[in-house]
Amino acid sequence: MAQHPLDGSPGSFITVFGDCIRDGSDNLFVDEAVVLSYTIAHEIGHLLLPQGHSFTGIMQGRPNALEWQRAARGALRFSPMQAALLREAARARQRIAAASNPDQD
Ligand SMILES: [Zn+2]
Repeated sequence: MAQHPLDGSPGSFITVFGDCIRDGSDNLFVDEAVVLSYTIAHEIGHLLLPQGHSFTGIMQGRPNALEWQRAARGALRFSPMQAALLREAARARQRIAAASNPDQD
């Protein structure tokens, strides 16, 4: 679960529940590492992308069993547009962090 501050500033905190990861792994017959890694990627997407869920790829709200099998093969991805937006959002956050902590380099 990605959490966004109420003031509208960008979120920087996600929560992933281990029991949900284990249940998902057991129910979908997908390795826990796959469920955990895609869940983290999905939640980071919520922090950095402007829109909510998409109909395909990592940002699907509720991937079905077939999609999780695709994830296990490494074939469930962000769309090219989402990937570009993620890179830009990460760069923007790096610039903000560097500007607010100039002695941290
Ligand atoms: Zn979501």
